[in-house]
Amino acid sequence: MAVMQVVFIGIISVDKQNISFSMKTKDELCRVPINRNCCAVAELYGMVLYANIFNLKQIRIRTELASVAKRASMLIEKVLGVQLEVQNIGHRLVLQIDDSRLIEKIMTTFGYDAKPYISYPLNRNMVEQDCCAAAFLRGIFLISGSVAPPDKKSHLEIKCSHMTLCRQVISLMLDLGMSPKMLSRQTTGIIYFKDTASIEDFLTRMGASLSAMEIMEAKVEKNLRNNINRQVNCETSNLVKTTDASAKQIAAIEKALLIGGIEIFPENLRETVDLRVANPASSLAELAEMFQSPMTKSGLSHRLRKIMQITQRLEQSQAGKE
Ligand SMILES: [Zn+2]
Repeated sequence: MAVMQVVFIGIISVDKQNISFSMKTKDELCRVPINRNCCAVAELYGMVLYANIFNLKQIRIRTELASVAKRASMLIEKVLGVQLEVQNIGHRLVLQIDDSRLIEKIMTTFGYDAKPYISYPLNRNMVEQDCCAAAFLRGIFLISGSVAPPDKKSHLEIKCSHMTLCRQVISLMLDLGMSPKMLSRQTTGIIYFKDTASIEDFLTRMGASLSAMEIMEAKVEKNLRNNINRQVNCETSNLVKTTDASAKQIAAIEKALLIGGIEIFPENLRETVDLRVANPASSLAELAEMFQSPMTKSGLSHRLRKIMQITQRLEQSQAGKE
């Protein structure tokens, strides 16, 4: 078969902001060494099954990334012994096969007969071994997967052009102990993961351990930040509670003092009355420390309750007089 020159063009028309992390992950996946032939076949199988076009007339693998085009080309050469030219069509990098003999060879390699299908089912024989299943998932992710950057909400997805294939890949993932979710849009489907642990696991299995680690680190950092925020919020809300309670106590005490003076309160409560009014911003613990003789928080709390009862009774009796 003719050997053509392989030309790689850089990334074309890519929204760097949106896909930079997916791109980085795919670049990492494209560096995963392929040690076994079975895995080369399985990874190419994933790419072809999720290719833009896959039928008896034409096979067309389309990607935005030069690394993915190069990887696909390398796998085609390794598995089929053919070198293909990477074309630049409509701002995409395309590997296209129109040669009917080569297509037949590909179909046979992946265990299909030469009959036309509306959608090609997943041939589980190709992904029987764990190494091959991981390689297959890498292949489909490289062609139709994306992953949200670590600083965004965790999300990894793979778009499927047919629901049947989508369900079959889900069932493979379930057999591998993964917990994928599925979304259907008419005839097409999306397989996705939302929890960080599943995404890390998925990326690690495919061989993108650096990307997985980045996501994990971002999560640890985020948790730490959330904990600090929670603590600060908690302290703030305690402070608000303290101040609210203190304001209520002081208002009641001052009202009572206006009506009957300090004699309204029994001798043993007068120091508490004085300290509360003089230190409106102090918490119970702080106030307890100000007493001449030692006072516990619960002891102080008990006294403040008594003071409030006295002011309430006074208020009620005043109301009765009116
Ligand atoms: Zn293998």
